[in-house]
Amino acid sequence: MASESVKVVVRCRPMNDREKALNCKMVVSIEPSRCQCFIEKPGATEEPPKQFTFDGAYFIHQSTEQMYNEIAYPLVEGVTEGYNGTIFAYGQTGSGKSFSMQGVAEPAAQRGIIPRAFEHIFESIQLKEHPERGVYVRDLSMHTVHSVRECERIMEQGWKNRSVGYTLMNKDSSRSHSIFTIHLEICNTDVAGEDHLRAGKLNLVDLAGSERQSKTGATGERLREATKINLSLSALGNVISALVDGRSKHIPYRDSKLTRLLQDSLGGNTRTLMVACLSPADNNYEESLSTLRYANRAK
Ligand code: ADP
Repeated sequence: MASESVKVVVRCRPMNDREKALNCKMVVSIEPSRCQCFIEKPGATEEPPKQFTFDGAYFIHQSTEQMYNEIAYPLVEGVTEGYNGTIFAYGQTGSGKSFSMQGVAEPAAQRGIIPRAFEHIFESIQLKEHPERGVYVRDLSMHTVHSVRECERIMEQGWKNRSVGYTLMNKDSSRSHSIFTIHLEICNTDVAGEDHLRAGKLNLVDLAGSERQSKTGATGERLREATKINLSLSALGNVISALVDGRSKHIPYRDSKLTRLLQDSLGGNTRTLMVACLSPADNNYEESLSTLRYANRAK
């Protein structure tokens, strides 16, 4: 069933210094054991908090290590067996997408999903060279790697190439999607000495910030670019919810470059994980609610 191949988790980061300095209130709370997330509308004390249930819910002190082991591990394991897998981080700029995907070196428990996937793959397979293949992207480079370190170097390079721009948000607003794809070919030799090749592909995707453009103060070229980003994020949401729904005959892959590119890694035999990232602060209430609604559609 398509619906079982899509998993959605939510992760709420701690309050940052800016939010603390502004005396922001926490409006997000999480019940990890029930995979539930609650959000309260600021100032609306009468209204019960809105409640969402996902396949996992991680609060401020929980680690990427835990999230990886509980939810990403089986997906990456599937890739080493020849399935395709896609892991997305979704959320407004500053909500913890890169923190989840790329992570930090210290503490070790907060190393990201991407370096963890590298290690996981290198620990579980023997490595062979693969021919170039896949959807063609202009300026895309494909590298054959032999070690975790080589993977990390390529990831760092990719990160530097990523275009980011300044907006009125509290840090760079990430205006580009970053897709890191690992192609794996697994060769098993059967008792008769015949080689059997299976190919698995893992996409590790740090999406552009999902913030509404009115908040970022973008104008001109940047606004047009931002509008495109919003369109591609909604196209991705439409594809995932059509897949999850399972009844739609038409999956609208062709509505954006992003979904076209990921077409063979969404649906079918593919396992997909979305990590929806949230700020806990009241001044981000609208964005957090919109992230929760987006994530909720993907279940
Ligand atoms: P995004 O990629 O969504 O724009 P980042 O991942 O860069 O956001 O996170 C913004 C800031 O918040 C960074 O300084 C990051 O280290 C910090 N941060 C995000 N998530 C967490 C977390 N779960 N625990 C601690 N710090 C976090």
